[in-house]
Amino acid sequence: MSRRTVSILGATGSVGTSTLDLIERSPNRFEVVALTAAKNVAALADAARRTGARLAVIDDASLLGELQGRLAGTACRAETGSEALAEAAAGEAEWVMAAIVGCAGLEPVMAAVGAGRTVALANKEALVTAGGLMIEAARRSGATILPVDSEHNAIFQCLASNCSSDVSRLVLTASGGPFRTHGREEMAAITPAQAVAHPNWSMGAKISVDSATMMNKGLELIEAHHLFGLPSERISILVHPQSVIHSMVEYIDGSTLAQLGSADMRVPIAHALAWPGRMETPVEKLDLARIGSLTFEEPDGDRFPALGLARQALEAGEAQAVVLNAVNESAVAAFLAGRIGFLDICRLVEKALARTASTAPASIADVIEIDRGSRLLAGELMREIAA
Ligand code: NAD
Ligand code: MG
Repeated sequence: MSRRTVSILGATGSVGTSTLDLIERSPNRFEVVALTAAKNVAALADAARRTGARLAVIDDASLLGELQGRLAGTACRAETGSEALAEAAAGEAEWVMAAIVGCAGLEPVMAAVGAGRTVALANKEALVTAGGLMIEAARRSGATILPVDSEHNAIFQCLASNCSSDVSRLVLTASGGPFRTHGREEMAAITPAQAVAHPNWSMGAKISVDSATMMNKGLELIEAHHLFGLPSERISILVHPQSVIHSMVEYIDGSTLAQLGSADMRVPIAHALAWPGRMETPVEKLDLARIGSLTFEEPDGDRFPALGLARQALEAGEAQAVVLNAVNESAVAAFLAGRIGFLDICRLVEKALARTASTAPASIADVIEIDRGSRLLAGELMREIAA
């Protein structure tokens, strides 16, 4: 069997390193072509050496010299810049892991989709901001988009064939994050260190804060709409603190299918890596007798306004989703830097949505323009709330 050629965009992050871990355990199945990172040149060079990658791309151009030095004596080319990133995404590899965080990953994802690759999509912000354009581009090029986000991967596994009229509803499960039982007053004082400490999952800082505000579930609602083509009212959110059921599909006949597994991203990543087959992973199998009970509750939209804001953005149209995402990214960065409070994140998103007209971006250039304008608006709104 020939090895599957793979590229990993965002190879040094949480999803990127989990992907490398699985690939390095199965060297007979995978051949690494290209790896990319933003700034972590040591981890990037080390991974490129270990896997025998042929291309390593560092986003921070000032680190190119160091990357070249670290790769001296190998057959791996060191590069920087958007062309090199597009080459990593749409070059030789047939399978591409999109694991850059934020809207920064949108253009490379579109390059991979446009080139007809099999795209394992972790980078949910790309889908939230340009879902319609991406699905249409995949239809034209013949690209396959495999959802890696655990909920969407679960739904993908539970859908016997394409999402059809046999499906009555998708149920996205949510852990509820570290502040599931906190009151509003307690939430005002939450620190970045508390917000990034997720009870069930180990993840990058941005998505950890999104899980704490539950904006992550809001982004996932929009993601599910684009991936599976169902309207907002047929996608519901259910809090399930144990994170054992990763999501469910309810059918018109009363059957509900669920996918279960340990809270370890290597399970959905392995599903996408081996798709349409399966592969072994070192992940602990579920011991349901030890877990004992699974519990469920309705999400609280008053304490977690992000859920309502995301639904509002989804129903209002694509430009609002771009604004929601961009202002959230800016606000999360400001919160992590200690410049705004935890509750300010959703406050800023709400103010920005109220000030934005709903239009439909016709191209990726439009999306990038709305994204840029929204970040400027986020800066203005931050100055207003600080005044
Ligand atoms: P992370 O912060 O750990 O890693 C992000 C990666 O992207 C790093 O390799 C970083 O170098 C690179 N990167 C960051 N900014 C960049 C830029 N401007 N240009 C180029 N590269 C850049 O993030 P993560 O937790 O691995 O998440 C990655 C994506 O996967 C996110 O969209 C997240 O929502 C999604 N996701 C993550 C998890 C998880 O368990 N971590 C689960 C589901 C979905
Ligand atoms: Mg998820």
